[in-house]
Amino acid sequence: MWSKLGTYAGIALGGLDMWTNTLFGFSFFGTLKHGKSDAASLEPAAGHKPIDYPKPDGVLTFDRLSSVFLSNTNHEEDQPVHLKVKDMALQETSEYEVYAGPSARYCPAGVYEWVEENGAEKFVINAQNCVHCKTCDIKDPNQNITWVPPQGAKGRSIRICRRSPDRRM
Ligand code: SF4
Repeated sequence: MWSKLGTYAGIALGGLDMWTNTLFGFSFFGTLKHGKSDAASLEPAAGHKPIDYPKPDGVLTFDRLSSVFLSNTNHEEDQPVHLKVKDMALQETSEYEVYAGPSARYCPAGVYEWVEENGAEKFVINAQNCVHCKTCDIKDPNQNITWVPPQGAKGRSIRICRRSPDRRM
């Protein structure tokens, strides 16, 4: 409702809907759908200003890797890759160059990084940090990343993609 009707009407009618559901077990509005998928909602970075995210203060906000540590996610070594990138070149030409590498921001575990190396951007996947939220599968603008359950519900892998001519997977 929020995305369809805006903040004020969405909150007011959402509140009404919550109470009718809680008190009477029915909804005036039923189940609403968004007009498009999360992946399709991303727009090219050129049309937007970069957001200056404040650094974590260590009191109320914390860096992602500290939080991953606290999640106690544990993986065995030498597990098969469970984050599958269909087309590594597309990551570079579209995910990075058109969309400014959103994977480095939407992943709550800091699995994806674009790292500058010798003047070129390198896509790094630190799969051992994955907390299996499946956001990348849903949010990647090209639907180029597929999350699969790691072997035995655990997983550990690191994949590195270098820009041509020195590309390694
Ligand atoms: S499922 Fe994807 S977005 Fe979620 S933690 Fe793992 S790599 Fe990151």
